[in-house]
Amino acid sequence: MDMAINQTDFSFIPEREKSIRTKGQQMQAIQCQADSVAGCVSQRACVYCGARVVLNPITDAVHLVHGPIGCASYTWDIRGSLSSGADLYRHSFSTDLREEDIIFGGERKLMRCIDELAERYHPPVMLVYSTCIVGVIGDDLEAVCRLASKRHRIKVIPVQSSGFSGNKSDGYRIACEVLLRMIASQERILYQPFHLNYLGDYNLAGEAWIICGYLQEIGINVNVAFTGDSRCESLLTAPGAALNIVQCAGSMGYLAKRMEEIYGIPFLNVSFLGLEDTMQSLRRIADFFANPYIIKRCEALIERELAQYGPIVKQYRQHLKGKKAAVFVGGGFKAISLIKQFRELGMEVVMVGTQTGRQEEYDAISQLVAEGTVILDDANPSELERFMLEQGADLLVGGVKERPLAYKLGLSFIDHNHERKHPLSGFTGAANFAREVEQTVCSPVWKYLDGPIHTGRINP
Ligand code: SF4
Repeated sequence: MDMAINQTDFSFIPEREKSIRTKGQQMQAIQCQADSVAGCVSQRACVYCGARVVLNPITDAVHLVHGPIGCASYTWDIRGSLSSGADLYRHSFSTDLREEDIIFGGERKLMRCIDELAERYHPPVMLVYSTCIVGVIGDDLEAVCRLASKRHRIKVIPVQSSGFSGNKSDGYRIACEVLLRMIASQERILYQPFHLNYLGDYNLAGEAWIICGYLQEIGINVNVAFTGDSRCESLLTAPGAALNIVQCAGSMGYLAKRMEEIYGIPFLNVSFLGLEDTMQSLRRIADFFANPYIIKRCEALIERELAQYGPIVKQYRQHLKGKKAAVFVGGGFKAISLIKQFRELGMEVVMVGTQTGRQEEYDAISQLVAEGTVILDDANPSELERFMLEQGADLLVGGVKERPLAYKLGLSFIDHNHERKHPLSGFTGAANFAREVEQTVCSPVWKYLDGPIHTGRINP
């Protein structure tokens, strides 16, 4: 039997119609921030994964996953946020629930695990993540953590992140609530007028260090980055800052809003992806502090960095002009920045989607892209493959789950997520990005592939 299917036969799910738009063809707003369609594969991660993404970079905390061992595989090893000191966060502790625990309850086992970890590591904070099965059997995490806090005189905080209780965005919000709970325990707030907090950077490949370096150079101190290379103690300094800047609005927008309500700290959404956005963001931060010294230092830094990295980006642009990119990332804000960054490289984004984008972000995306660009929310592999081929993309930017889709189609790929080992933020990151795009898109390897190599769908 010939199992090969024609290239145009990608399945299309009618219930997904409202979540896919082609600019210039449909007038209705895209459907987003909704649960994934039942029976349909989704590129999104679960609630627990969303919470873990945000909280795991706290370097001196114990991260204990209450559930079967499989959930604990989402560890530091597949999300390399870097630390300048403590490395307790690199362990992945699990209660490793088995059948007997599911039948008789897992609270006792959890308490034993907490006791052992507290005695062995003496952490300042222990975060206990709930997983699907714990939500089903109804272990009382709050009560166990309260008891453990008293017994060990440390903060043991439950993260109520059962995977089925929503989608990845809910995990972000739950993590933000945990962070607020940690901060709220600080009684004395020391107000510092030229300090800010940097929200939504997880120090992948040391990116938070680059941005904090820029800010320090222009005369602004960073109390703490949420949560890249953060420590439990440094998080407590957050309420004293004069400003919150937010890089990943999808994961940390909620925390910024809540901190404005509770502590009166205003926030700015910023982006340090690409030359243009980095410049703009630094200027907006300097303008906020309205200090002539800071503004002058900011301009001097921009001039110096542009002189160094601008020509590098320009050089790669010559080879990339006219190429087409597809983008599928976690949040809308990153997608917006990437569209602008590809423009700096002379490339057009022909397909763009996100896991958790919000309506206002999709409106901005729609303003930025050209007619005919496909915009999609919470996509599945089949849709991504279909639109990458139909739109003639030369490159896909995504994360670990999107990489095989691109390679199976014989397309180049850029990891803009957990696994990368070089920074993509700031001026130096813009040059790294341009170099990586050029190296992969212009690699001679693609000319040896005779069309897409998607097994089982297209005749070899
Ligand atoms: S969906 Fe449930 S079982 Fe799967 S990783 Fe998330 S918490 Fe664990």
